Parts: sequence; structure tokens; C-alpha cells
Amino acid sequence: MGEKLQVPFVDLKAQRATIKDELDAAIENVIANTAFILGPDVAKFEEAFAAFCGTKYAVGLDSGTSALELALRAFDIGPGDEVITAANTYIATALAISYVGATPVLVDIHPETYNINVDLIEDAITERTKAIMPVHLYGQPADMDPILAIADKHGLIVIEDSAQAHGARYKGKRAGSIGHAAGFSFYPAKNLGAYGDGGAVTTNDPTVADKLRMLRDYGQTKKYHHQIQGFNRRLDTLQAAILRVKLQYLDEWNAARRAHAQRYHELLADVEAHLPVVPDFAEPVWHLYVVRVEDRDGMRAHLAENGVGTGIHYPIPIHLQPAYAELGLKEGAFPVTEEYAKQLLSLPMYPEISPELIEHVYSVMKEF
Ligand SMILES: *Cc1c(COP(=O)(O)O)cnc(C)c1O
Repeated sequence: MGEKLQVPFVDLKAQRATIKDELDAAIENVIANTAFILGPDVAKFEEAFAAFCGTKYAVGLDSGTSALELALRAFDIGPGDEVITAANTYIATALAISYVGATPVLVDIHPETYNINVDLIEDAITERTKAIMPVHLYGQPADMDPILAIADKHGLIVIEDSAQAHGARYKGKRAGSIGHAAGFSFYPAKNLGAYGDGGAVTTNDPTVADKLRMLRDYGQTKKYHHQIQGFNRRLDTLQAAILRVKLQYLDEWNAARRAHAQRYHELLADVEAHLPVVPDFAEPVWHLYVVRVEDRDGMRAHLAENGVGTGIHYPIPIHLQPAYAELGLKEGAFPVTEEYAKQLLSLPMYPEISPELIEHVYSVMKEF
């Protein structure tokens, strides 16, 4: 027997190998210039990222969680307020809402798209509701037009959680350019990933962009002139230099992910699994390729035995986490989210994965 084929869930080393010289030069340049805090690399990255998203502004921050939190602060959302978001998301979405003193109000997901079920949003609105935070989960945009219409009708702010959706499009518009503002994460495994933590808010509103620049930098407009009690939440300059290099390849990498998703789609047609459904309005960027399998844990163990890494996004819904006992929600509150938490399975997906490895994932799943 030859060596068993190994398919990692993600492979960040494969990507670095393709652009190592450019990255090394960018890092060396920051260190040689010793402009470590903000400086030209952050400003140039912000300009390029805003252009990529089709917004007027991008403000670089220290994480995606900070981006969502500070975006809420920029709109003065705080104690006593409620923010509506999806029940199936990474816990950081809810935490950002909690950090400002507001209450996350969860809404169940749509059974086909796995994004917030727009038909359930209006029932969740109270006189305390200030914002809706749709999540473009797995890189597929939420159905934004109905969300914007509801927000308009009730006078609500819309902040997109775009942490998984760099480059995705909704009816031709980039994720992050549709609501009042959007939060992005540059966590290393995201479609645009730094070599550490990082994040950004995109917006077309100059007042919001200015407020975010103050919030991330001790509330100052110029050195030692503090307008508000801000934070230290700046995007690290080394990370900005790395992101500037990587942003040039993002469309290419997303196109590769799209081709891999298409290949999975064709191959897995004869495997007992629910495959991702892409609505007409969506051009996803496949941060994750997620299927649903009845015996998910059995399938996952079988894949692991055969060298295939997988993930679960997410195994325990937020409202059933001890951290959110305060919401007072029990099992049964969000039936779709709860059922799918037992079935969702994320298959290996990264731009550099080879067709051979995807075929291997398929044949291992087929024999289960
Ligand atoms: C990654 C992620 C975040 C948080 O981003 P960090 O950079 O890890 O703080 C928020 N929301 C979603 C949906 C994410 O996937």
C-alpha cells in the first residue's frame, strides 16, 4: 500500500508558497521603515479594500469582532437596544452585540439557504429594535432586499456581518456595500486572511467612517486631542501590508473556490447528502462548502479515518450555549438551526485544493 491520501480541511501553507517573495518583501518593508502603527500601509490597504467592496470607505481594525462591535457603536447602538441576527452564526456576531450592552435577538435560518429567514424578521421587531445584522454565512449573501425593506419600514440600521463573504455578490453588489455598514474579518482562514487577527468596517457614510477612526485610536482626531473615550483597536500595520499583497489575488482565489464548489456539486449528486442551494440573487465565494448528512457524526468519523479533514459550522447553537443562558431560550426555540446543527458538515475547501483531492473526498463519502 502506498501512502494514504491526506486531505486537510484548509491548507494555509499552500497559499503562502505561491506568493512568498511578495509577502516577504512587504513585511521587510514595514520593518525597515519602522512605521508600525497605522501609517501608509494601513491607509493604502483601506483604500484598496474599499474599492474592492465598492464602498467609499474601509476602516482597518484589529479583528472582525471589533469591526461588528465598533460599527454598532458608530451608530450609537447600546444598552437597552435590540439587534436582530441569525440563530446559526459564529458566536462573535452575538458577542459584538452584547459588548455594546445591546441584546442579540436571534431569528431562525431559512431551511435552504442557511441564512436568516427573512419571513421571520418582522415578528422579532419590538420598540427596542435598532438594527438588523444579517450574516452572509459560508460566503453566500443573505437575501438583502427584503431585509433593507423591513429596515426602511421600521427605521432600522443594517450592519452586514461579511466576515465570511469577501467578494461575494448579491444581485451584482459586493457583500459589505449593501447595508449602512459591514464588518469583515481577516482571521487567517477567511477568504482574505492575515497572518494574525485583523478586521475592517466598510461604509459609504463619511460620519461613520470618521467615528470609527476615532473609536479605534483612543478617540483622538489628532494626537492628544481626544473627542470620545475610544479604544486601541487598530489594524496592525504588518497585517495591512500582508493583506495588501493578498487582496490582489482574492478574485482569482474566489474563482478557484467557485470551480471547486462546482466540482463538488457534480460529484456529490449521487451521495446521500443535501448540497448547498444557491438562490438566483447570490454569487457566493464559498468560504465553506457545507453539506447536510443524516448521520453526520458517522460520516465525519469515516472521512477522518480516511484522511479527510472536515469542520462543523456550528455544532451548538448560540442560544444553547452556557454563555447565552441569559437569553432564557430553550431547545425548540429555533427548530431549523437546532436540527441542522446535528447535520451540517463542512468539506475541505481552499483555493489550492486539487481536483484529485476533491475526487478523493467524493469517493470516501460514496463508500459510507
Ligand atoms: C470569523 C467571524 C467573525 C469574527 O471575526 P474575528 O476576526 O475572528 O473576530 C464574526 N462573524 C462571523 C460570521 C465569522 O465567521
